[in-house]
Amino acid sequence: MSIVPLNDLRRGAQADGAALPDALLRVVDGGWYVHGPQHRAFEAEFAAYVGVPHCLGVASGTDALELALTALATPGRDVVVTAANAGGYTSVAARRSGLGLRFADVQPDTLCVGPEDVAALIDDRVAAVVVTHLYGRLADVGGLREVCDRADVPFVEDCAQAVGAQRDGRRAGSTGDVATFSFYPTKNLGALGDGGAVVTADDVLAGRLRALRQYGWGAKYRVDIPGGRNSRLDELQAAVLRLRLPQVDGWNARRREIIRCYVDAAAGSRLAVLPADGEHHVGHLAVAECEDRDAVREALSARGVQTDVHYPVPDHMQPALRDQHDARPLPVTEQSAQRILSLPCFPQLTEAEVEQVCGALRDL
Ligand SMILES: *Cc1c(COP(=O)(O)O)cnc(C)c1O
Repeated sequence: MSIVPLNDLRRGAQADGAALPDALLRVVDGGWYVHGPQHRAFEAEFAAYVGVPHCLGVASGTDALELALTALATPGRDVVVTAANAGGYTSVAARRSGLGLRFADVQPDTLCVGPEDVAALIDDRVAAVVVTHLYGRLADVGGLREVCDRADVPFVEDCAQAVGAQRDGRRAGSTGDVATFSFYPTKNLGALGDGGAVVTADDVLAGRLRALRQYGWGAKYRVDIPGGRNSRLDELQAAVLRLRLPQVDGWNARRREIIRCYVDAAAGSRLAVLPADGEHHVGHLAVAECEDRDAVREALSARGVQTDVHYPVPDHMQPALRDQHDARPLPVTEQSAQRILSLPCFPQLTEAEVEQVCGALRDL
């Protein structure tokens, strides 16, 4: 019996074909390795793709979040409102920006935070609201935008899992004051290493972010802005991302198709696969919920299907974050952390592999 892997990054690189080594060699031969022509072109192409005027390449998605929160800092405001079920990236970034955490519970059907969850937590201590488009599903950005505007609090979209998601012609990342992306290899748009981006429509914020990602420089060797650091997207990664960006929409459609097969196959079983049925969802992960997770994972493993859990420990229960948030009950977050599991989902899965997963789901 062959094993269906949760992911296999070699297949993505193989699918790139000769264009991949060609692009890498051109960078090597060009002799310009950071903030050169590939980086500049990628920033322009990615901004156009998302539908915002400014894109800043940075070294990772976590850096993107940290830089966004630092750029948005307002004196006297010291906490970030966010979800506790999104892998801890925003929490780590907020702590690095010197901010405390206030967690909103998520909606049981989407596992994303909704406008009401956020509105109830906003007061004059809140520096920013960070919403993760979890598993690739675009949250209710219209409603969230309204809540943040009413309270005059910045709205940040964490689009690390949702590149390309759209609703009413607006892409993920085009509604928030700032939005962040990760190009970690397993993301829907992945590099051959680390990478990230911050996008914004705000000229002033863009200028601040541009300085913050490079030592706080306003001009070369002149540190104008405090809190700066070094976080750059290198030329090799930018070249890979330029090669792959035009293919993301097609890959996202394939991910949705795979998840649709899983939803159908699991219908009526003890496993409910979360649907990804429309362009607002880019199927970053195929996540399902069940009561008896250990037994289900064992049964799937016996049929050669790899699974994982994204994410097993909510942020408010992480040892290193224990004293960094105002404790409040998060029943949906806590329950779903016990019930979720992720199934294999990446664009290069073969029909036979998808069928093998579906067979295992039908037999549950
Ligand atoms: C991957 C991810 C990040 C962090 O990105 P890195 O590039 O690994 O730092 C942030 N937020 C979410 C939701 C992610 O999935």
